[in-house]
Amino acid sequence: MSHTTEVIATTEQWSAKNYKPLPVVISRGEGIWAWDIEGNRYLDCLSAYSALNQGHRHPRILKALIDQAAKVTVTSRAFHNETMGPMLEKLCRLCEMEMALPMNTGAEAVETAVKAARKWGYDVKGVPAEQAEIIVCRDNFHGRTTTVVSFSSEPQYRNGFGPFTPGFKLIDFGNAEQLERAITPNTVAFLVEPIQGEAGILIPPAGYLKKARELCSKNRVLFILDEIQTGLGRTGKLFAYQHEQNAKPDLVVIGKALGGGVYPVSAVVGSREVLGVFKPGDHGSTFGGNPLGAAVAIASMDVIIDEKLAEKSTQQGEYLMGKLRELRSEHVLEVRGRGLMIAVEIKKSSGEARPYCEKLMKLGILAKETHHQTIRLAPPLTIQRSELDLIVEAFKQVLQ
Ligand SMILES: *Cc1c(COP(=O)(O)O)cnc(C)c1O
Repeated sequence: MSHTTEVIATTEQWSAKNYKPLPVVISRGEGIWAWDIEGNRYLDCLSAYSALNQGHRHPRILKALIDQAAKVTVTSRAFHNETMGPMLEKLCRLCEMEMALPMNTGAEAVETAVKAARKWGYDVKGVPAEQAEIIVCRDNFHGRTTTVVSFSSEPQYRNGFGPFTPGFKLIDFGNAEQLERAITPNTVAFLVEPIQGEAGILIPPAGYLKKARELCSKNRVLFILDEIQTGLGRTGKLFAYQHEQNAKPDLVVIGKALGGGVYPVSAVVGSREVLGVFKPGDHGSTFGGNPLGAAVAIASMDVIIDEKLAEKSTQQGEYLMGKLRELRSEHVLEVRGRGLMIAVEIKKSSGEARPYCEKLMKLGILAKETHHQTIRLAPPLTIQRSELDLIVEAFKQVLQ
């Protein structure tokens, strides 16, 4: 038995089967690269679903982690620590918002946004008790907790996990008329991803977010954007809503790359009117806002700004999409994306995306299919042009 087979066998024996990973065992990462335990090198085109926008083990982020670990790591919110405040200030300034509530994982931050919206609805908007409605989109992905899957439209995310949390209404993504019709006096929020990531990197029609913003303002509904995957430079802007004028949300939910690929850090960022509804004891998290995570988040944001990763994402994304389209493969229905959030859609007649990902892996490119037909390409934003050519070269071979 090879070492790889052995490790996979142990994992399979002891792990619940809620994932089906590609058969590669990663033991080291640096920048855009990952190495398996046999010493083979791969270009990481998944970036842990955009948790690694800054690349693996960015030296500045690692230094922040290590320096903070030498002082104090977890305090709980029962006491103050000197790192959380500056982290939230940086985050609020980056988002041009007034307040933030730190959590750890993305799903927890989405839950926090849902709670904030409901409480705002009752305390500020005056919605009758227990009547708050939140509008969401079909094919959304906002995480895996019981409440979050309560408003998923994906049968596999829900089957067997009911009863579900009520109070959510589903409409089609990208359809502003449906949003207008779905709003009632009890609607407290519209929660949406600016680009649907897990659904296959679906970009809404131009003007959609601006229109949604207008409808929300007109009806006193909170406009909440889940930028956990799209945020922090991934799509070529700091936040994906900045691709449109006047589409700024009331709450923005951030996670993944906020932790710089080393530590889970998430947050809900927004106005004082909304986040001000929380009083001591209303909501919390043992690890949320801990100094280790806060130090990491500060460095993670600094790297994104100082290394101009959003601008790089635009340039490199356009180059990569152009080169992939130039391949003119008969198996490819479409290459689409924004910045370095790219989808290569395989035609149904050419089979599913998974075997293409397996072939790419053998050529040293780690990419993961999303749903059945889509290969997602989302390398670290630090990737160089010559390295993009390696991706194109591998695609050329796999698509032949
Ligand atoms: C990954 C993701 C989440 C969930 O984040 P976790 O950290 O896995 O809980 C929520 N929303 C979007 C858009 C995501 O991509």
